[in-house]
Amino acid sequence: MFNVDKIREDFPILKRTIHGKPLVYFDNAATSQTPQIVIDAIVDYYSNYNANIHRGVHTLSQEATDKYEEARIKIQKHFNAKEAYEIILTSGTTDSINMVASGFASFLNKGDEIIVSALEHHSNIVPWQMLCEKTGAILKVIPMNEDGSLQMNEYHHLLNENTKLVFCNHVSNALGTVNPIKEIIDAAHKVNAAVLIDGAQATPHIKPDVQKLDVDFYVASAHKLCGPTGVGLLYGKQEWLEKLPPYQGGGEMIETVTFEKTTYAGLPHKFEAGTPNICGGIAFGTAIDYLNTIGFNAIAKYENELLVYGTQELLKIEGLKIYGTTKEKTSVISFNIDEIHPYDIGAILDKLGIAVRTGHHCAQPIMNFYKIPGTVRASFSFYNTKEEIDLFIEALKRAKKMLA
Ligand code: PMP
Repeated sequence: MFNVDKIREDFPILKRTIHGKPLVYFDNAATSQTPQIVIDAIVDYYSNYNANIHRGVHTLSQEATDKYEEARIKIQKHFNAKEAYEIILTSGTTDSINMVASGFASFLNKGDEIIVSALEHHSNIVPWQMLCEKTGAILKVIPMNEDGSLQMNEYHHLLNENTKLVFCNHVSNALGTVNPIKEIIDAAHKVNAAVLIDGAQATPHIKPDVQKLDVDFYVASAHKLCGPTGVGLLYGKQEWLEKLPPYQGGGEMIETVTFEKTTYAGLPHKFEAGTPNICGGIAFGTAIDYLNTIGFNAIAKYENELLVYGTQELLKIEGLKIYGTTKEKTSVISFNIDEIHPYDIGAILDKLGIAVRTGHHCAQPIMNFYKIPGTVRASFSFYNTKEEIDLFIEALKRAKKMLA
């Protein structure tokens, strides 16, 4: 049974006060909070078995290796990857995307086409622009509609035999739109293009099945999934990971090294040069276990209740406009009130203990589309409550009065 009061007990930070007010944390799309069980996993690692992995013959190293590889299997199972070695542990979504972009530099030729969506985070735009500069490939963009959905007809028109890669986020961080990724993947495969889905914003709400999706690459960050910062994953189909050249050279990623020639290790080590974030990887596995104990169906259902309630209450504020109004969206509400600058609203909310994100949310093309400098973004997690939304609405009314 989903019990939010009990769940809140798991998160020590939720007991904090900010400027003398109870913390209302509505910046979950930027980073989620960390449950005690994940904090304990981090403390346990450094207290009891901190050691380097994969190389050591001693007990601590073996324990750390076992736990790290157990975490990889937890992640594999969660995403339903066929093999554990299809899960590359990276430093996060940005790192994973750059790994794929760097690898594709050796496959692309002048005139090849790459498609991205208008809803992308900068981390899913800039690496492809850099890749185009390097290779002479051309970047095409799936345009968006006023409601924050993608123009799927245009997408189907953009696809052709020159399309080599398609990149799209599963959920937009700025608007919360859930994109029709199965349709995007299937259509791309008809022209033999590979697809990378950026799951940074989807994974806190949805449990993706990479085999069912038949996606080539899927990436995400642990810190949006109740895990620590500095760790994330690149799922890649085995055939792609075998084809892609390694991203970085160094220890751990080799089989043999001589000054004449180096041979690379097999998957996943080929993409994991150097000492990884061992503790982070292990704690990522614990976070996945924690979320699965609550259950993604229960999480999605409860968060949708918060979304519906929050949207309804926000719309009662005169002059408030919500950006991203598709039916298919996660618990993210991006908005402005009249001409008030989002930063000014955010600063007043902070004084009242409420954490929201303000600005362009690393998605300037979306802001340019709406011709606005940015928005206030409230993003709810399963540990938030309707009472917190009420506090937020009251605070917004106060901010509006002060700034109007
Ligand atoms: N893509 C999306 C959709 C995101 O929301 C984010 C994080 N805001 C990223 C990519 C980048 O993630 P990270 O900073 O963890 O690498």
